[in-house]
Amino acid sequence: MAPRHQAPRGTRDLLPADTRLWRWAEARALQVLERYGFGELRSPMFEEYELFARTAGESSDVVQKEMYRFQDLGERDLALRPEFTAGVMRAYLEHGLGGRARVHRLWSMGPVFRYGRPQKGRYRQFSQINAELVGSAAPGADVEVISLFVDLYEAWGFRDLTVLINSVGQPASRRAYGERLRELLAPFAERLSEDSRRRLEQNPLRVLDTKSEGDLAVLAELRESGAGLPRMIDLLDTDDRAHWDQVLAGLEAAGVAVEIDHGLVRGLDYYTRTAFEVHDRSLGAQSALGGGGRYDGLIEMLGGPPTPGVGFAIGLDRALLVLEERGTAPPLADTVCVVAMDSTRAAAQALVRRLRREFPVEADVEARAFGAQMKAAGKSGARLLVIVGEDEWKQGVVALKDSRTGTQQSVAVDRLADTLRGLLSGQETQGGA
Ligand code: AMP
Repeated sequence: MAPRHQAPRGTRDLLPADTRLWRWAEARALQVLERYGFGELRSPMFEEYELFARTAGESSDVVQKEMYRFQDLGERDLALRPEFTAGVMRAYLEHGLGGRARVHRLWSMGPVFRYGRPQKGRYRQFSQINAELVGSAAPGADVEVISLFVDLYEAWGFRDLTVLINSVGQPASRRAYGERLRELLAPFAERLSEDSRRRLEQNPLRVLDTKSEGDLAVLAELRESGAGLPRMIDLLDTDDRAHWDQVLAGLEAAGVAVEIDHGLVRGLDYYTRTAFEVHDRSLGAQSALGGGGRYDGLIEMLGGPPTPGVGFAIGLDRALLVLEERGTAPPLADTVCVVAMDSTRAAAQALVRRLRREFPVEADVEARAFGAQMKAAGKSGARLLVIVGEDEWKQGVVALKDSRTGTQQSVAVDRLADTLRGLLSGQETQGGA
């Protein structure tokens, strides 16, 4: 019989075989975030629609086409978060964090929602790790955030990633850049996609974000033509230019390799100065693994005092797709299997519960015969077998068999935990690997 229900289009179930890798990746990320001194901020999965519309910009794809907007029973206009930054900054202001310390390092992790066309690496519910360094305009803050960004991928085993970087300047220099782009692209308007023609009117920079093959061909032609595409960094004011130079110098000093990409603009309106992204070509069309930048105007946009900030979002789904394809597998913890006879079943139950305070322990729950339990233990791949025999139990001992060495020994029940600890110590467990 076919099941009556399926997961909604664009969503996925992660089964235990998948979540094992997810948990490992999350645990590793958490270690790195903590080493950088970031603290976790958990904000709601939905916020006022207006918060996202205001910060992302009305002309952004996210607002125009991808928002999960709904009215609750109290007729509030709400939306599932399409990204973290707006909600994190709303919380930053609401709790007056700016008044408590000058600089805050905040991370968040969890699902975000965008109504896009689902395909490999693009889902309607997906997960991000988000990090924000709020309160510092110094180039060193950009360098620290980009170092953290790279170190997170490295902790997962990525070695060959190149961070693409650009400066998107300030709104004024961006407008000047947009005007130049509009003039350059106007003669090609006929050949551009409908989306890009609209962007050419509303926000020409966004044309550079296009995924349409036709648009990309036009951009490639322009790039290769004599004049080439304008470069944002040529239009920066003195301060922005100095910031840019210092960020590049700082990254070099820190040993973080970057590649300048003059066409990198990022999708949201609130970015200023530094913008960066990282791609993995094995993902095909949805190659962006993560990205971020500076957003010095964002907090003011939300009614707060001028407060600089820089941050990023890493897409976990795509990073994990790559890791899966590479066969990355976190080590499995060795387990202990306790096998009992009819006469020792009750005693074994208490023993199992006690051992589980410390070790991963498997045990029969179906009152199966001794032989069936032994067979199941062999199949499960448990490293250590604890056999609770009737005569031995009366003498206060159990048999302990190590499937790795094939040896068997008699161990006093009150020495069992120590013995197991000795045998299992030094191995990497799933979470702490
Ligand atoms: P963005 O805020 O759009 O730069 O997104 C940051 C990262 O989230 C991207 O680099 C992707 O890895 C990931 N991401 C964005 N949209 C999706 C999606 N629809 N499905 C899966 N991952 C996504």
